[in-house]
Amino acid sequence: MLKERGNIRYIRKSKDAIDWIHSWKSTLLLLLEDVPFHLRQLIASISIDGTSATTIIIDSTTGEPLWRPFLYNESCSDALPKVKSIAPENHTVCAGSSTLCKLVSWWNVYDPNKDSAALLHQADWLLWLLHGNLGVTDYNNALKVGYDPELDSYPPWLLSQPYSKLLPSVKAPGSPIGFLKEDVRTQYGFPKDCVVCTGTTDSIAAFLAARAIQPGKAVTSLGSTLAIKLLSTSRIEDARYGVYSHRLDDKWLVGGASNTGGAVLRQIFTDEQLQNLSEQINPMKTSPLDYYPLPTVGERFPMADPKMAPRLHPRPESDVEYLHGILESIARIEAKAYGLLKDLGATQVEEVFTAGGGAKNVKWTKIRKRVLGLPVSRAIQTEAAYGAALLALKGAQQCVQ
Ligand code: ADP
Repeated sequence: MLKERGNIRYIRKSKDAIDWIHSWKSTLLLLLEDVPFHLRQLIASISIDGTSATTIIIDSTTGEPLWRPFLYNESCSDALPKVKSIAPENHTVCAGSSTLCKLVSWWNVYDPNKDSAALLHQADWLLWLLHGNLGVTDYNNALKVGYDPELDSYPPWLLSQPYSKLLPSVKAPGSPIGFLKEDVRTQYGFPKDCVVCTGTTDSIAAFLAARAIQPGKAVTSLGSTLAIKLLSTSRIEDARYGVYSHRLDDKWLVGGASNTGGAVLRQIFTDEQLQNLSEQINPMKTSPLDYYPLPTVGERFPMADPKMAPRLHPRPESDVEYLHGILESIARIEAKAYGLLKDLGATQVEEVFTAGGGAKNVKWTKIRKRVLGLPVSRAIQTEAAYGAALLALKGAQQCVQ
């Protein structure tokens, strides 16, 4: 069983007007209620994926939040100088939106009850409602608070800080934490041995959903932006391109995101036009048009250049040719992105699965196959919720071993 991203995300209206904690909790309970009666006794395990860096400071005895949650995209740049002074250069915590910046920002302004405070991520807190053991997270969610997944511990520079006592203990994603709390179990009719397992972040859960489980398999997300994730035997970190790695058992999930993608397409064409024009493209023909499609100025990966201007001219008379040129240019950026990961030392990409709104475009897939020189197909499952269910399965399998 799993978290339904859409339900939780789109309740949002404005950051401060919403009672996030209440809406997340009630959505979780509604989802439990949604499980058909005849299936409830068959639920062996539960896991949840949550938005990375969405942070909740709670009372460590009651689990009740001491502060409104810090949302994933909130920047606590007031804490940046302090965080930069303790963390290694270019560490992933050195961004205003990192979990560690949120913790330090809270620590610096909030006085009472510090002794009984604890930090949880969104997924951890929701899972706690189900298992009741406070202070557990997974190493994917913990990355942005500074956890070192290679050492499998918090680093000394973090442990020496007074607020390190707020940090949760860390397990691998999909590890059993405990049985479903009795009150929840009896209220909804789940079995006695239903186990609750650690989760992961939304984007990792979406990768897991595609079941790209061997090194060299990758997922390109063609949503508003172009994001790539490659399963690699080596860990790559390069803050210059925003490339960092999440641990996945004994492998690494190396990722980066370009500002190109569907947002530019939407600035020029409607989704209906995209579909109709694409049908007329001959994907075997190389387009002579060389663009760098960006929605606004600035690119981060595979070239970091905050001043890079969008290049979408010359525009031919034919819209089919124009779209062909744009799709092919985005495919070249994708190829360059995988090339960069290889140059940085990642496992060479062998096969690409596609997720996001652009995945349904068959002609684009053919263009990308030609430009990447690789097998490219649409991922069968792309919902993060499916990835969380696979983690729950992993946890259930550990219980029967
Ligand atoms: P996100 O979740 O990042 O907002 P989605 O995965 O929902 O994005 O995908 C939406 C994007 O898909 C839009 O930016 C749109 O331009 C693009 N898109 C929609 N239809 C097509 C199509 N037929 N071909 C290519 N791209 C498309």
